[in-house]
Parts: sequence; C-alpha cells; structure tokens
Amino acid sequence: MLLLENIPLAPLTTIKIGGPAKYFVEAKNAGEVQEAVAFACSRDLPLFVLGGGSNLVVADTGWPGLVLKIAIHGINQVQRSGHDDGKILFDAGAGESWDKFVSHTVMARCAGVECLSGIPGSVGGTPVQNVGAYGQEVAETIVSVQVLDLRDKDGQVRELCPEACGFSYRASIFNTSERGRFIVLRVTYALTPGGNPRITYADLKRHFEGRETPPDLAETREAVRHIRACKGMLLTPGDPDCLSAGSFFKNPMLSEERHEDLKRRAAARGLTLPSYPALETRKKVSAAWLVERSGFSKGFGFGRVGISTKHALAIVNRGGATAADVLTLKEQIQHRVEEIWGVRLEPEPVVVGF
Ligand SMILES: Cc1cc2nc3c(=O)[nH]c(=O)nc-3n(C[C@H](O)[C@H](O)[C@H](O)COP(=O)(O)OP(=O)(O)OC[C@H]3O[C@@H](n4cnc5c(N)ncnc54)[C@H](O)[C@@H]3O)c2cc1C
Repeated sequence: MLLLENIPLAPLTTIKIGGPAKYFVEAKNAGEVQEAVAFACSRDLPLFVLGGGSNLVVADTGWPGLVLKIAIHGINQVQRSGHDDGKILFDAGAGESWDKFVSHTVMARCAGVECLSGIPGSVGGTPVQNVGAYGQEVAETIVSVQVLDLRDKDGQVRELCPEACGFSYRASIFNTSERGRFIVLRVTYALTPGGNPRITYADLKRHFEGRETPPDLAETREAVRHIRACKGMLLTPGDPDCLSAGSFFKNPMLSEERHEDLKRRAAARGLTLPSYPALETRKKVSAAWLVERSGFSKGFGFGRVGISTKHALAIVNRGGATAADVLTLKEQIQHRVEEIWGVRLEPEPVVVGF
C-alpha cells in the first residue's frame, strides 16, 4: 500500500474544487482496500471513499483523514447459470470507468445500459446514487454488489443482492440509511444479448425521428453522447461548461397535494407546469424548470461560479471557484425556488469535509 500525504483533491474531481487529503491511498484490489481501512482505523482517521470524483464538492479545507481512491479494474463476462432468462453477466471492478464499461457492453451487443453512455465516474459510483439517465437506471440491471462492510470486525467481503441495496430514484442504502458503511469493490450487471436499445426518452426519440430502420445499440450510445455533449453533460476537453458535478439538484417528487399547489402557483404566473407521473401517488417535477423560472437561467453567474450555459441544473466552476462559492450559489437557488414555488430542492452531489 502506497501511503501519500497532503494530496490535492481538486484535480481528482470534475468540478476541480477542494483542498488536500491529509492521507491518500489508491487501492487496486480488495486486499489493499482492507489494508487502507485498517490504517485509518488504527489512527482513528475519518475515511472517505473516492471514485471518479464526478459527484462531489470537496471543502476548501480538504479532508482531515484518509481518502481511499478505489482503483480496482477488470471487466469479466460470464454466462448466467441457473437462470433461463438468457442474460449475460458482466462483472466489473469498482474503479473501472463507467463509460468504458458501457462501451464494452455495447460492443458486445448487450442491451441494458446503453442509455447511460457518457455518464462520468466509476463503476463503483453507479449503485451509490442508482445512476440514471435517458430512460434507464442501473437498478434495472444490477444483480449483485460486492462490498466490504466496515461494520464487520473481520473485514469480510460480502455480496449484496439488489433488494438489499434499496434502490430508488437517485438513492440506495449507500447514500441514505447505510451511508459510509460499505465500500463497493465490484458490481455485476445482467444484460440482454442481442437486445434492442431503449428509445423511450423524448430527446432520444426526437434524435431518431424520421428514420426508417430502428437504431442499434452503438447508434443509441452515440446519440446519447451527442445529446449529452450539447447539454454540457459529457466531459469534453475544452468545454468550460463541463467543470461541474453534473446536475446539482434532484427532480423533486411531490405528493398529489403539493403538485396541485405547484400547478396553481404556475397558473398564477401564466405558466403550465411540465410534469410526468413517477410513482403511483407522487409526481416528479423538473428541477431545471423550477430553477430557470426562479431567475437562474442558463449562463447565470457572478465571476468564479455560475450556471452552465447549456443546462440550468449544472453549477459550473468558471475558474478559481471555491467550494464556498458553489455552496453560496446553491443556497441562493434553493432559497429562491422555495420562496416562489414552495419546493425545497435537494442537492444531488455529495459534500465532503464540511
Ligand atoms: C458532467 C456530468 C454529468 C453527469 N450526469 C449524470 C447522469 O446523467 N445521471 C446520474 O445519475 N449522474 C450523473 N452525474 C453524476 C455522477 O457522474 C454519478 O453520480 C457517478 O456515478 C458518480 O461516480 P463517481 O465514481 O464519480 O463517484 P464520486 O463522485 O467519486 O463519489 C460519489 C459518492 O459515491 C461514493 N463512492 C464512490 N465510489 C465508491 C465505492 N467504490 N464504494 C463506496 N462508495 C463509493 C463516494 O464516497 C461519494 O459519496 C454526472 C456528473 C457530471 C460531472
């Protein structure tokens, strides 16, 4: 285990913000993860597990303990035994790039994650917030998550089934009830060989409008990446709108009553609320719509921090921004949206070291 000290964290995040880690270890296998955990325990150091740094705002003061970067690689393909659903299992190390994994499965002509093309970060980050986009989320394909349970004194590696992960919209036990308890080592996804791409999302349907033949998986992947790039949601070198942590707010899920109230508030302003049913009794509302109609349009900003010129939900580091700048803008947006619309927006990125 190579133990480093005083390592800047900003370059390891997509928003390029944050102070240093007191200690830093990159673990390439489960044994190194266990060794790093033992080191943190022996010194009573707070532990933070880092993936691709694409969903983080790290404090300007950094992290006072050990940052453990998961660098477990490898993608293995196995035929599913004991099931007659014909699916193929893909098992990937938590440190693998998620988009590389998607590319691998698309090249293998297996359907199930093609709409999640272009999402930055690691494989290990995907179960944490049940990553989703363009009509798919990983909860639909994950069959097992291999973890190290930090509560287990023997440091045993365990497999969690999807039910145990408690997946819901941008949530799982990993970022809610059991936050900080598990380190994800590997994830296994069941994909459909020869399956058709899922073209249900409006932007994707529009992209392929007028085509006579249905798109294949590779074309769908390219379309998703293209649409994402147009919204600054694909990490593209040289695009200043990419210095973000992705969407900064989750789409709120409202009760029927709250949704009616929102519709009334919109009507009073001569607006119609765009919405779509998410769960049986709750409604999902576009956070971007609320943000834009609260005075924070694309390109909004003051100096070092602002809103992407391509997407109202992305807070962007325009150069030299601090975590404090980001949180100030975040709070302004939350305050204004709540004042006008009566809805409290919940941030999506994880804040670290505050
Ligand atoms: C441009 C852009 C676009 C994005 N688009 C989307 C999108 O469309 N949909 C979407 O859902 N998200 C999106 N995101 C958010 C982000 O990419 C995902 O949440 C991603 O899965 C985070 O993975 P990561 O490896 O970067 O995790 P990090 O940012 O490194 O960490 C995030 C959290 O996960 C934990 N974590 C990471 N790895 C592990 C592990 N191995 N074990 C235990 N805990 C771990 C960390 O401790 C932290 O709490 C976007 C981000 C950006 C910058």
